[in-house]
Amino acid sequence: MQVDLDASTVLITGGTRGIGRALVEAFAEAGANVAFTYRSSTDAAAALVDRLEEQGTEALSLQGDVADLAAAQDHVEAVTDRFGGLDVLVNNAGITRDGLLLRMSEDDWDDVVDTNLKGVFNFCKAAYMPMMRQQSGAIVNISSVVGTTGNAGQTNYAASKAGIVGFSKSLAQELGSRNVTVNVVAPGYVHTDMTDELEEETQASILETVPLDRLAEPRDIAEAVLFLASPAATYITGHVLHVNGGMAM
Ligand code: NDP
Repeated sequence: MQVDLDASTVLITGGTRGIGRALVEAFAEAGANVAFTYRSSTDAAAALVDRLEEQGTEALSLQGDVADLAAAQDHVEAVTDRFGGLDVLVNNAGITRDGLLLRMSEDDWDDVVDTNLKGVFNFCKAAYMPMMRQQSGAIVNISSVVGTTGNAGQTNYAASKAGIVGFSKSLAQELGSRNVTVNVVAPGYVHTDMTDELEEETQASILETVPLDRLAEPRDIAEAVLFLASPAATYITGHVLHVNGGMAM
C-alpha cells in the first residue's frame, strides 16, 4: 500500500522481531521517522537502526520493559525531544505464557497482563499529553483474534487482548475531541517467533480453520496498522480491524 507519512514520527513497542519489525520497516518505507522499543534484543535493535539509517530513515531504538510506566514516559520524552512530536503510537509488544488455568501460575498471569495490557496503558498514558497538545495523533493497539473468541490454555493472554479492546474504545471516546484516533488491529495467527514455538500438529490444526489457507505474514498486519495510521483513516476511531484470514468472522 502506498502511504505517505513523510516527516511524521511513529513509536512502535517491541520493534525488533516479528510483527514489530515489519511495522518498523513499513513505517520507514512510508517516510516516517521511526522509534521502536525492545526488551533484550540489543544486537538486533542496533542492526535495525543501522539498516534504517542506511536507507535514509531517522531511527531511534529504546530499551526497556513496557510494563514499566516510568520507562514508557522516558521513551515518549526521548522521541518528542529527538523528533519534535509523536504522531503515531503502535502498542505491539506482547508475550504468551500458555497453560490451562489449573496449572497457570500467578507469575504467568501477571507477566502476560503486565506486558500486554499494562504496557498499553503505560504508553497511551505517556503519549496522551503530547498528542492532546498537538491536537492530532493515531494510536493503534495490537490485540488478537483470541481476545474475541477465547482459547483454551490462554486465559491470561485472551483476557489481556480483550482488555485492550475495552481500553481502546474508552480512550477513543476520551481523545476524539482532540483529533486523536485510537484503534485496534486483531491479528489471527501470524508467522513469527511466537507461533514458531507451537508444535507442528497445532500449527496444522490452526491452518484448517483459516479460509484463506495460510498463516498471516507480519507484513499483512503491518499494512493494516499503516492504513489506520494514515490520512485515509482519520475518521475511523474505536474500531477493531480483524486481520485473520477469515478464521473468525
Ligand atoms: P514476537 O515474540 O515475535 O516479538 C515480540 C516483540 O516484543 C519483541 O520485539 C520483544 O523484544 C518485544 N517485547 C516482548 N516483551 C516485551 C516487554 N516486556 N517490554 C518491551 N518489549 C517487549 O511477537 P509477535 O511479533 O508474534 O507479536 C507481536 C504482537 O502481536 C503481540 O502483541 C502479540 O500478542 C500479537 N499477536 C501475535 C500473533 C502471532 O500469531 N504472532 C497473533 C495475534 C496477536 P525483544 O526482542 O527484546 O524480546
